[in-house]
Amino acid sequence: MPLAEAKIPVFCVFLCLIVTIYSLNKEEGESKMFRLGIDLGGTKIEGIVLDENGKELFRKRIPTKQKKGYPGILENIKKLYDLLVSSIDGEKHTFGIGTPGALSVRTGLLKNSNTVCMNGKPLKADLERILGRKITIQNDANCFAMAEALYGAGKGKKLVFGVIMGSGCGGGIVYKGEVMTGLQAIGGEWGHMSIDPQGPMCYCGTRGCVETYISGGGLEKRYEEKYGERRSFKDVEKDYKNGDQKAVDFIQTFFKNFGRAMANLINVLDPDIIVLGGGVSNMDAIYTEGVKEVENCIFSDSLETPIVKHQLGDSSGVIGAALIGC
Ligand SMILES: [Zn+2]
Repeated sequence: MPLAEAKIPVFCVFLCLIVTIYSLNKEEGESKMFRLGIDLGGTKIEGIVLDENGKELFRKRIPTKQKKGYPGILENIKKLYDLLVSSIDGEKHTFGIGTPGALSVRTGLLKNSNTVCMNGKPLKADLERILGRKITIQNDANCFAMAEALYGAGKGKKLVFGVIMGSGCGGGIVYKGEVMTGLQAIGGEWGHMSIDPQGPMCYCGTRGCVETYISGGGLEKRYEEKYGERRSFKDVEKDYKNGDQKAVDFIQTFFKNFGRAMANLINVLDPDIIVLGGGVSNMDAIYTEGVKEVENCIFSDSLETPIVKHQLGDSSGVIGAALIGC
């Protein structure tokens, strides 16, 4: 056999070998990579398992049991994590946790959590020791933004800003599928921009924060301040729909503040889309009347930014936790 002809089968065998090694690696490295996430709430801890395409395979909720304090919460997280791992027979996976509050960049201790027994605790270091692995912990607004950016209302958009208007007011920035936390891990904390230096005192020490005017908790306080009566935001919304003058005046002021706060955000970040979440975001008039006020305030002749409702509902926290995992 001439030398040139003998080289062809050798080359083919070599090529097959490379293809086989590549596919084996691919199978081990990609198709078996599950994503595990835990959303740490004040009353419940929720866990989820996603496959590599984001499909939900398993979900479980357990009570947080705050009464048992910080050690009890750690124990519950471990219990739930073990359950998630056993649901995939211990296969290779990433793991992330979403929590209210944030880890201080300087000390590594959790701060601003409404599960107060966790504040000042080294949550990440303790869990890494207990679970014997690396984990990622992100603030719940960042998890919300991540979930909506990848699988919800912001899917396909490059720069997504996620806003939570719940008991407080949080925000998260996702750029090209990654959370932008920033130098001090406060990227997206738009709820604590002041829109009135003479305004009500916020727990953060600043007056007139966005949170005190447009979060559910803030709105209830403002209503009580104005009319001397405590009402839930849902009830005020009902009164507004029924044309009650007090509620109409109150909600119009809310829309003006919403417009000012959103315009400040758009003027700085100019995102491709803003996705709203949290209880207040379920009010339909925000997307018409509220958005008109944004248009009145932005530094542009027109408002092109879509401001839309969330798509994943309550699941966004736990899905986002799974997506930010390492
Ligand atoms: Zn504040």
